[in-house]
Amino acid sequence: MSDIPKSFQLSAEMHAYILDHSTAPDETQRGLIEATNALGGVSIMQIAPEQGALMTMLTRLIGAKRAIEVGTFTGYSALCIARGLPEDGELVCCDISDEWTKIGIPFWEKAGVRDRIDLRIGPALDTLQTIEAADVFDLAFIDADKPSYGNYVDELARLVRPGGLILVDNTLWFGRVIDPDADDADTQVIRDFNTKVAHDDRFDCVLLPISDGLTFLRVR
Ligand code: CA
Repeated sequence: MSDIPKSFQLSAEMHAYILDHSTAPDETQRGLIEATNALGGVSIMQIAPEQGALMTMLTRLIGAKRAIEVGTFTGYSALCIARGLPEDGELVCCDISDEWTKIGIPFWEKAGVRDRIDLRIGPALDTLQTIEAADVFDLAFIDADKPSYGNYVDELARLVRPGGLILVDNTLWFGRVIDPDADDADTQVIRDFNTKVAHDDRFDCVLLPISDGLTFLRVR
């Protein structure tokens, strides 16, 4: 599977046990994981398989029909969300890279979900700001440039309906959030973001220690 452990807080043995006792990626998903791993070190930006399984389940549990993703990379998270949508569901994918997202497209096609995905190449904030109607999405996933997390959440708070869910990735930042020696800009941004959303009246907030930290924001 992935060569680089994202669940840094688990032993390799415990991580393997969890993977062995959760719904496994199917052939199409494994194909995309392998195609992404072939890119080398950058493949760390792909979400972990157990997180993908959780996101498919969450999409189904909340009965999401319309979803939006900020940061698609090679399309694994999009594949997992799209599979959880009904046939007439829609997932808007925002990413700046044509080069990376096009790796995922054949796998979306193979999974039969390509027609549910509206891929928009360009800065995500611009894309979000072009969507005028409020409360149009049931589910959102943020996994993009960390300094913009606060801006993405502000836009999505308008676009996700009350009772809908915003998921935010990498909020433990490989444990650096609690490392007193970590003073780089991204770590500080994530710390500030975590503190802000935990006390934000717009959301119920749960930071779950799955993979590299996944924050659940339920829109009030
Ligand atoms: Ca991520």
